[in-house]
Amino acid sequence: MSGDKTDLVARGPVLRPGIDAIEAYVGGKSKIAGNANPIKLSSNESALGPSPRAVEAYNKAAASMHRYPDGGAVALREAIGARYSLDPERIICGAGSDEILGLLARAYAGPGDEVLYSEHGFLIYPIAAHSVGALPVTAGETNLTADVDKLLAKVTPRTKLVYISNPNNPTGSYLANGEMARLRAGLPDNVVLVIDAAYAEFVTANDYAAGVELVDASVGQGDNVVMTRTFSKIYAMGGLRLGWAYGPARLIDHLNRIRMPFNVGSATQAAGIAAVEDVAFTSQARDHNERWRIWLTEELTKLGYRVAPSVANFLLVRFADPATAEAVDAFLTARGIIVRQVPKYGLPDSLRITIGLEHEMKAVVAALADFKKGV
Ligand SMILES: *Cc1c(COP(=O)(O)O)cnc(C)c1O
Repeated sequence: MSGDKTDLVARGPVLRPGIDAIEAYVGGKSKIAGNANPIKLSSNESALGPSPRAVEAYNKAAASMHRYPDGGAVALREAIGARYSLDPERIICGAGSDEILGLLARAYAGPGDEVLYSEHGFLIYPIAAHSVGALPVTAGETNLTADVDKLLAKVTPRTKLVYISNPNNPTGSYLANGEMARLRAGLPDNVVLVIDAAYAEFVTANDYAAGVELVDASVGQGDNVVMTRTFSKIYAMGGLRLGWAYGPARLIDHLNRIRMPFNVGSATQAAGIAAVEDVAFTSQARDHNERWRIWLTEELTKLGYRVAPSVANFLLVRFADPATAEAVDAFLTARGIIVRQVPKYGLPDSLRITIGLEHEMKAVVAALADFKKGV
């Protein structure tokens, strides 16, 4: 008897299946040794930073940090609902949209199930799938863009979730309304379609929608479409961890059952309300991005670089081979510029560059011009 017990202790806890298959997520670099002030263009944070009103609200809330937050995030959900014309009852807030993407996997997928996403999709999707013991399955893309037919061809009776980032990170491409509707129409009702619209506020293309209509169309018709959003990108509050989702009441209820009761801090909620209400600042951030994304695309194209068309706040620049991408990254680092290598996204020959401030964009162009000249 005691021998058995010793054996169990020696073996230790047993990891659930799938978890040791997870490759830990590695974020964009944020430091260059010996450079106190690098130009950081590696994490898609809005160039203009957070709204001053959000910072003020955060500081003000600090005095009450001994109090637990409102676990229902009522005022925040009402502010989001008012800003985007959505029913606050059908909104859930989380510690970043990453938390919500994970909750969706926990609610709907498990061992033996499949979770589908596109080839160059966001790396959180396979992490979410593996963490519940489900199998991540990818579908090929066409021209660095998700392909609805290829996605639908990969749906099996075991498929429980489809994650689609629209627009997608790191490619910057998007699916127009018609394609998204076709994806939804081709999925069985028992499959949850997760529309990850982290960059929605930046998109100005008029055939793009963040997903509200598809969510609403699913109400009572499967209740199986949900849209996730974040305060980390245009609102530039990535350090606070705040995201939200809008879905059918039934699906939001499922997520509320499994989330931790105080998943969003009080100062974060206060900052989120101020950020979402600062409509003028958000428009400024979108206009700035539009102007400099177009400018950077044109300048790099003139220099002979291959830039994937982007509707978001970053560009994917493609090189002849992975070695060139590495060399360009090293060259930029030496100039104090941090961009993102994306080999884990199946794009080892590319670099992702976030749209920054004017002087940052000019520094990138000057550096890449010098790289071409062999300076
Ligand atoms: C940045 C990003 C998110 C947001 O993550 P948070 O957890 O809200 O910071 C979600 N999806 C994609 C595709 C992203 O690029």
